[in-house]
Amino acid sequence: MALELGIDRRPVLPPSLWAKTAVPAPDTTVLQGDVRADVCIIGGGYTGLSTAVHLKERDPSLSIVVLEAAEPGWGASGRNNGQVIPAMTRPDPTDMLREYGPDRGALYAAMIRDSASLTFDMIRRHGIACEAVQNGWVQPAHTPGRMKISEKRFREWEALGAPVALYDRDAIGKLVGSPHYEGGWGNTTGGHINPLGYARGLARAALAAGVAVHRMSPATGLERHHDGWRVTTPGGIVTAGSVVLATAGYSRDLWPPLVRSFVPFRNYQAATIPIGENQRAGIVPGNQAVSDTRGDLYFFRFDALGRLVTGGNLILPFSSTERLERMLPERLAWLFPQLAGIRMEHVWHGHFAVTMDRYPRLFELGPGLYSFIGCNGRGVALSTAMGGVLAGLVLGDDRASLPLPVTAPQPIAFHAVARRVAQSALAWYRWKDRREV
Ligand SMILES: Cc1cc2nc3c(=O)[nH]c(=O)nc-3n(C[C@H](O)[C@H](O)[C@H](O)COP(=O)(O)OP(=O)(O)OC[C@H]3O[C@@H](n4cnc5c(N)ncnc54)[C@H](O)[C@@H]3O)c2cc1C
Repeated sequence: MALELGIDRRPVLPPSLWAKTAVPAPDTTVLQGDVRADVCIIGGGYTGLSTAVHLKERDPSLSIVVLEAAEPGWGASGRNNGQVIPAMTRPDPTDMLREYGPDRGALYAAMIRDSASLTFDMIRRHGIACEAVQNGWVQPAHTPGRMKISEKRFREWEALGAPVALYDRDAIGKLVGSPHYEGGWGNTTGGHINPLGYARGLARAALAAGVAVHRMSPATGLERHHDGWRVTTPGGIVTAGSVVLATAGYSRDLWPPLVRSFVPFRNYQAATIPIGENQRAGIVPGNQAVSDTRGDLYFFRFDALGRLVTGGNLILPFSSTERLERMLPERLAWLFPQLAGIRMEHVWHGHFAVTMDRYPRLFELGPGLYSFIGCNGRGVALSTAMGGVLAGLVLGDDRASLPLPVTAPQPIAFHAVARRVAQSALAWYRWKDRREV
């Protein structure tokens, strides 16, 4: 997670497909000198940038500074699979109602239901060039047991008015182009994007609205100052009434209680070489985003040039590129026999924040100091939506109207150990994936 600098002193992005294909980064400056702002946002991923854009949309007179340690989209936002998914990994609507009660649970479920539409609306409203394709998101079920869960998910989201569909074995076979699924469900508002392009587009939208976005300006100190906060960076200081900590899985020691409330999880991504029309025929012909019901997920989507962008997880990181270059083509050839021998062109990885119960958290860390953490691997649409929620929190919206309770961080027991063994949980998921549980 260390920040590398290139010979031009710009932060080095991972060797991702997106670093090669995204629109160029907007021009941003390094913070120099001391400034005052109404709001300082630390972290230039979807959460931070969406918060900035939402704040400006609600009150154009606000002065807002975004501090990014590297460059906008350097974290998970520029490294992910780009699947825009209006659902969580674990909690389904009934779980949400049970967790938060009928009122807040309904607000939370509605936010998740609408989160993909909100993301694509944001892209259209700000003219963001990020290869956006809103052809739906599909979750194929890999066992009969998981198909039962898919039916339940379909029913619950349908009851909430989400545009969902249920697929039998035959229908999912045609939709995905693989014979290995029992059926599945999907939501037509989902889709996929070029994730780094989206982050850069959000940064451009924030800049256009008058937000000061600073690259290579890591917050190294955060302390209470009169009735606001003082944020220190190597080049200058921001004094602000409110601060939003949007550092997610890349949070380090700036605010230790935040860091102890989650564990960072490493996920690998990879893209094939562009696949020609003939070889591609029948594979996700509708160009949806696909992620299946495995705990150790199989997921894939095409990019604009016909590369299949997929990925996977490893318990131990040694020789990761070589192992993934072997493992992922085998998996793709099993799913889609016509891809036998396919070569991976890019392999990279990133980290996202995982909470023990898989629910995200909206934190008040001090007076006027807020954070959102715990996308649990489903954060493209969620972080975009949470930008609106954080903006509301900063502006003093009635907290009963927010989709998440505002809480203080609780440390994870044996956090240092949990961080070390987080990847080992994969062994448990793989065991469960092979059974009907
Ligand atoms: C490999 C991978 C694949 C994924 N695939 C999907 C997917 O297909 N669909 C989906 O919905 N979700 C996916 N996710 C999750 C999604 O990418 C994240 O939930 C989302 O990008 C989180 O955005 P964020 O802004 O909260 O955090 P990030 O994008 O991680 O941004 C945090 C930023 O904070 C900056 N920062 C840290 N410390 C400081 C500091 N002290 N000062 C200034 N800046 C600082 C970092 O440099 C970083 O840019 C994936 C995640 C990963 C890692």
